[in-house]
Amino acid sequence: MERFDIAIIGTGPAGLEAAITAKNRNKNIILFGDKKLSSKVGKFEEISNYLGVGKLTGQELISAFQNHLSLLDIEVTEDKVQSVYAMGNYFIIQGKEVMYEASTVILATGVVMAKPLKGEEEFLGRGVSYCATCDAPLYKGKTAIVVGYSPCEEEEANFLSEVAEKVYYLPTYKDEVHLNDKVELISGRPLEIRRENDVSILVTSEKEYSADGVFVLREQVFASRLVPGLTTDGAHVVVNRKQETNLPGLYAAGDITGLPYQVAKSVGEGSVAALQAVSYLSKLK
Ligand SMILES: Cc1cc2nc3c(=O)[nH]c(=O)nc-3n(C[C@H](O)[C@H](O)[C@H](O)COP(=O)(O)OP(=O)(O)OC[C@H]3O[C@@H](n4cnc5c(N)ncnc54)[C@H](O)[C@@H]3O)c2cc1C
Repeated sequence: MERFDIAIIGTGPAGLEAAITAKNRNKNIILFGDKKLSSKVGKFEEISNYLGVGKLTGQELISAFQNHLSLLDIEVTEDKVQSVYAMGNYFIIQGKEVMYEASTVILATGVVMAKPLKGEEEFLGRGVSYCATCDAPLYKGKTAIVVGYSPCEEEEANFLSEVAEKVYYLPTYKDEVHLNDKVELISGRPLEIRRENDVSILVTSEKEYSADGVFVLREQVFASRLVPGLTTDGAHVVVNRKQETNLPGLYAAGDITGLPYQVAKSVGEGSVAALQAVSYLSKLK
């Protein structure tokens, strides 16, 4: 298996700056995320506090980022990382269906704004799942509820419905939904997941729904779930001024390291993280 020098997880300002810095240093990188880059940045009505750009809409800033990636021939690998395992002097990165290896990792996945639902963490792996692609085969002929925190999760619900007997979809956002006929749209605010007699119960502000399992699909996975052994403080990863985490070779940058949630701070941290990863690689060799 190819071993990359640096795996960068996240295509927001932090991950993109890390990618261009590492690429300029001639490192063999893999950048995980979305071709649309960052849904947060894409939603800006206007940004006026990022040096050198004056006033831009979010979409204009995204286009500028995309142009910069093209200039340096940096490709985005559209895979959602499920787990990162520290193996000593390298890391295994588990995608939805593929595994990757890298000598260093930069976590730039943004911050999870929502708190876990009551019962979500308790029943994870026992009726609660974070990955439809990974766990769909377990739902052949069964029923599932998908709680989707962003429109990109609709594709996961549609995929699950090809295998499962019945899929219910609860969006937590207001955009128009695009689901196939086998998926039933439900409403309400998700509050709690309970498990009774091998049945998962999703409690919403409107009513309770029962199924064999509940998929909770967010754009981001909690950092503590993504990397076993990582030191976190609530939703944030603990780092020092070199963006080093407690795991040698693993760095974090951007909103995931804490306030202020700003593009400029994310970009600065992405640059520091990449330069530190480069320095770590030279010591490794
Ligand atoms: C409405 C709004 C307006 C804002 N306005 C401003 C402003 O005017 N000025 C300003 O400075 N800041 C603003 N911000 C804050 C700014 O958007 C964030 O600080 C910035 O986007 C953080 O960058 P990031 O790279 O840390 O994370 P993000 O931009 O959140 O990007 C994270 C990326 O990681 C990807 N990802 C997550 N998990 C995985 C995974 N497991 N595998 C693969 N990829 C993954 C996501 O898909 C995403 O692409 C605003 C935020 C919002 C919500």
